[in-house]
Amino acid sequence: MRNWLWAQPTWERTVGDLNALHHGLLLTGAPGTAKREFAMALSQLLLCGEPNAAQPCGGCQNCVLFMAGTHPDFHALTTELEWRDGRMKLVSAYCNRYQDIAAREKRAAPSRVIAVDYIRLLIERFYTHAHISARKVALIVPAERMNINAANALLKLLEEPPTNSIFILVSALPGNLPATIRSRCVQIGLPLPTDEVAAAWLRQHMSAAEATQALALTNGGPVEAGELFAKGLLPLQTEFLQGLAELIAGKIGAVALAARFKPHDFLQWLDWLHRFSCELSKWACGGGVPRWHAQVRLDLEHARLSREKMFALYDQIGYYRKIAQEPLNEQLAMEELMFALQRAVRN
Ligand SMILES: [Zn+2]
Repeated sequence: MRNWLWAQPTWERTVGDLNALHHGLLLTGAPGTAKREFAMALSQLLLCGEPNAAQPCGGCQNCVLFMAGTHPDFHALTTELEWRDGRMKLVSAYCNRYQDIAAREKRAAPSRVIAVDYIRLLIERFYTHAHISARKVALIVPAERMNINAANALLKLLEEPPTNSIFILVSALPGNLPATIRSRCVQIGLPLPTDEVAAAWLRQHMSAAEATQALALTNGGPVEAGELFAKGLLPLQTEFLQGLAELIAGKIGAVALAARFKPHDFLQWLDWLHRFSCELSKWACGGGVPRWHAQVRLDLEHARLSREKMFALYDQIGYYRKIAQEPLNEQLAMEELMFALQRAVRN
C-alpha cells in the first residue's frame, strides 16, 4: 500500500500470513479511505506467483495479466452504474465479463443493484478449476448493493467455499448487508487519515486551498475528495450546499431552488441530499458541526428540526433512489424533496 499511508498498518496486519487468511473478507471504512485500492492490491497479491515482502511482484505472468484486466482467476462484480462510471478503470475492465447481464435488460438509467444473476454466473465460473493461479479471488463492490437474492446466493458460497478461493466484499455501509453475510466474513476496517496526512496526499494533485475545500466537502475521505476534484465537482457541491443553506434560512423557495438544481445528475444529487440531511440531524442532536460549515455557513439557530419529518425525508430520498430507474419527472421530485426538507427544519 505504497500510496495509502493511513492504510499501511491495516495492510501489514492483513497480509502477514496469506495462507491463514479467512476466505470471506469484509473491507469497511468511511467513503474515500481507499477501500477499492486496498482490495485490488490485496487481490493482486493473492494471485501473484512471486510476492516480495508482502507486495505483489508486478512482473510475473499473474501480475501482468491482473494489471491488464485479463486475469482469468480474478472476478469483480459491481453495479452497472459503477461499471459505466468507472470509479476504478481496472474494476470496470473485470466487470466487462459480467455486464452482458446488464445489457440484457434495457433501462433508461444504469442499475444501482448487484442482482442474483451476477452471483450465479460467479458461482458457475468459480466451480471450474483455477486457470493459472493457485487461488481464485472475487471482489464485490459496493457489497451492500447486492439485492436480497444475490446476498442469499453468495451466502451459500461463503458457507461452502470452493478450495483456495477468497471473497473480498467492500462496503462503506456494512450495516446495510444482511447479518448472515457479515457473520461469515472477517471484517477489516480502514481508518480515516488525519487531516495532515490527507491534505499532504491530496497536495500531489491540487493546491492547499483546494485540498482543504475538498476534504471539508467529503468529511475527510481523501480518495473521495480527490475524485470530486478530478471530476470538477467541487464548485457544484459547494453551490448545492449554499442552495440548501439559503433554503433553510428562508432566502429561497423550494420551487426556485429545485429549478436551480435541475441540470445536475439526479442520482448524484440524491446522494448529496441524503448525506446533507444525515449530517444536519447529527448536528442538531449535538453530534458535531459538519466540516463543510467552514466553507458554507448555515444558520441553524432559527431552525427547529423535527426528527419525525427528517425521517420522512430519508424515506422519500430512498423511494426516489429506488424508482430513479424509471422515467421520472425529476423537477417535481426535487421540488417535493425541497419542500420535505423545509418542513423538517422550519416546522
Ligand atoms: Zn507477481
